[in-house]
Amino acid sequence: MEHLSPEQVIQLKKLLLKRKEDTIRKINQLLENKILASSDVEDEIDSADLEMERLRLICLRERETKYLKKIEYALSKIENGTYGICENCGKPISFERLKARPVAIYCIDCKKKLEVEED
Ligand SMILES: [Zn+2]
Repeated sequence: MEHLSPEQVIQLKKLLLKRKEDTIRKINQLLENKILASSDVEDEIDSADLEMERLRLICLRERETKYLKKIEYALSKIENGTYGICENCGKPISFERLKARPVAIYCIDCKKKLEVEED
């Protein structure tokens, strides 16, 4: 990650740690959610709506958990010095792109080519 200055790396690391904190908070909130906590729905009338809401929350929790893994992966890459390098073509990922998407593991060209999803 020679294309990133030590200051830029610190800035990105801070950004990742902040996102990590936010994501953990979101996951914890979801874990405390009553709809998710109770598996049996008592109320017959609202059960369909509740089930929809439950599925939505499960989806959200899965997405946040996946994002958290991406953040942890990015942080581990900072530690071992491979952060900011495209995993597909080996080219540096620009600081501007990393600032917008600190969990990015592909450069913009490869992202388009591979049609990968990103947060
Ligand atoms: Zn690439």
